[in-house]
Amino acid sequence: QAKARGGNVVHFYSQQMFDAFQNRLALEADLKLALLHQQFDLHLQPQIRFADRKLIGLEALLRWQSPSRGMVPPDEFISVLEYAQLMIPVGYWVIEKSYQLLTELQQQGFSELTIAINLSTAQLNDPALPALLDRLNQRYPQAAGYLEFELTESLLANNIPATIASMQLLKARGFRLAIDDFGTGYSSLSYLRQMPVDIIKIDKSFVFGMLDNQADFDIITSTIAMVRKLGLEVVAEGVETQAQAKTLTQHACDIGQGYLFSKPIPAKDIVQRLQDGLDQDGQWR
Ligand code: C2E
Ligand code: MG
Ligand code: MG
Ligand code: MG
Repeated sequence: QAKARGGNVVHFYSQQMFDAFQNRLALEADLKLALLHQQFDLHLQPQIRFADRKLIGLEALLRWQSPSRGMVPPDEFISVLEYAQLMIPVGYWVIEKSYQLLTELQQQGFSELTIAINLSTAQLNDPALPALLDRLNQRYPQAAGYLEFELTESLLANNIPATIASMQLLKARGFRLAIDDFGTGYSSLSYLRQMPVDIIKIDKSFVFGMLDNQADFDIITSTIAMVRKLGLEVVAEGVETQAQAKTLTQHACDIGQGYLFSKPIPAKDIVQRLQDGLDQDGQWR
């Protein structure tokens, strides 16, 4: 029947499929305009060192304030950006904005803070990335050396040699690298050993369950021990309660990030909120 209508028609099997397709196209069209109309923003979430409660860094998290859809969470549009080949230009915006913010924070006296930027596989494999970072390091010389990149574990499993080569280009430029959402992907420990990474971020799903579920607890404590034994830093994501923080501290987890300390903070409020968040001893409240 599709053929009878002549040539290259897309055949939909149900109204539902057609609606999903249309929604996707509309989302893609809106996202194409979002960059042009500056509807993207960064929110920054504090990272706290358990041992002394010092604020050591921030993770940059992309936000889209759409005039028609409202605030759209990244899980709903990052995959569309990737599919539509928009992740690289939007990612450039995230990276440059992070350099700007870090420079501003340094001018406000936050001289040792790091900013961690999430990088998708397309960005990691983009041959233009190293030159872009070289330019930004020149333009924002004070920020250079204080930026990190987070790579989601689930995206690291294919083409290991190419991934490692791309990672090395970043390492050579002084960026620290983190594996994000650790425990949810398929990367084996032998890959991990070959990869030039500095930081492992344990996925929040394990932290959520760690005090109710023996398996999650065992995964958390043994991952912390293994990561530290490898000489890497370990971050727990999704820390929401004092009880979780206490247990993570007891098991020598280095750093925590989560709603207990702070939700992600809009870029325009960051200086004020960090100043408010720190007590006289420079400890996070
Ligand atoms: P992620 O990199 O694992 O970031 C952590 C996510 O956990 C963030 O969600 C953060 O808001 C959330 N979170 C932090 N603490 C807690 C907590 O205590 N409880 C709960 N329930 N959630 C917590 P968000 O901002 O919605 O981002 C989702 C994902 O989108 C990120 O996960 C990251 O994979 C991706 N993403 C965000 N920004 C970017 C970006 O600029 N580029 C790329 N490629 N991906 C990004
Ligand atoms: Mg991340
Ligand atoms: Mg994560
Ligand atoms: Mg994630």
